[in-house]
Amino acid sequence: MATGKKDIRALTKEQLREFFVKEGDKAFRGNQVYEWLWQKGAHNFEDMTNISKETRQKLEDNFVINHIQVDQMQRSSDGTIKNAVRLHDDLIVESVLIPTKTRTTACVSSQVGCSLDCKFCATARLKRMRNLNPDEIYDQVVAIDNESRLYHNRPLSNIVFMGMGEPLMNYNNVIKAIDKITSPEGLGMSPKRIVVSTSGVPKMIKKMADDAVKFKLAVSLHSAIDEVRTSIMPFNATFPLNDLREALQYWYSKTKNRITYEYVVWDAINDKRKDVEALVEFCKFAPSKVNLIEYNPIDDGEFQQANSKAIDMYVSVLEKNNITVTVRRSRGKDIDAACGQLANKS
Ligand code: SAH
Repeated sequence: MATGKKDIRALTKEQLREFFVKEGDKAFRGNQVYEWLWQKGAHNFEDMTNISKETRQKLEDNFVINHIQVDQMQRSSDGTIKNAVRLHDDLIVESVLIPTKTRTTACVSSQVGCSLDCKFCATARLKRMRNLNPDEIYDQVVAIDNESRLYHNRPLSNIVFMGMGEPLMNYNNVIKAIDKITSPEGLGMSPKRIVVSTSGVPKMIKKMADDAVKFKLAVSLHSAIDEVRTSIMPFNATFPLNDLREALQYWYSKTKNRITYEYVVWDAINDKRKDVEALVEFCKFAPSKVNLIEYNPIDDGEFQQANSKAIDMYVSVLEKNNITVTVRRSRGKDIDAACGQLANKS
């Protein structure tokens, strides 16, 4: 949309109030418009029915509302919903609604494509096109919340930043979006219900700790042996496990928040005793738990999920060492909505 007008949602409430004062109106008008934009999710200035026609025209002349659009919605047989979301510049990202008996979780994207190069992830093949703005992240959550109410008769309960992109490579915008999601002027959601998942950018993990963020942290570990991890997640050569470990210790010392490690066990890659032993050692540095996630094939067959014997070995060794471990089944596979499958196929 090359109108040259400013996206009104890039303005803070204070800036909106100032705009109205400059236009000879009351500052309070800024509050009203802000509420329309964020709490009521208005897509158009015409929707703002308690604002006079002249004022709406003034807004129209100065601003645009760059709202996302759900281009396509796919529903899985297990209740999972995947949205293909069109941005104002026609790029597409995907977000997913995952219902269980007790919760509805939104899995949202933070970048178009991804900056990282994990060999087992479909999004990595798209390369990073750009970072999402705070409002583009926020809008994905609102869209999923609406779908949750419509199809599952309940509001959204949890959010995971496990869609496309590396959230810590778009840190400022992710934080701004979370501020809005948790603020009473936005969705008023508790930060404890939000998980930011990262491949592990040590410097940014430390920054999060310094910023005293209140959401939870998950790290996609997949191997606690540098050589193995670098072979499947090449950026590990730049951010080796030692640096990651040190950053996670710092995180725990500051936040006292336990860390979740996401981990896929693959055949002939990390399915041996030495692999789980290295993981046990890694888990000792800071209180943590391990989520063993199912591998979702991304079609060239290079990676195969390990057999159930290997998974059982992981579970028993971890449990023997008093490390909490859960085994997660994938959701939404039939519509390519599971972890690592988001690649704008359609
Ligand atoms: N960049 C962030 C968030 C996106 S990936 C991160 O790395 O954490 C979300 C999760 O899906 C990560 O744990 C990732 O390792 C995992 N994942 C990626 N591809 C996968 C695949 N094909 N099967 C299963 N999990 C995968």
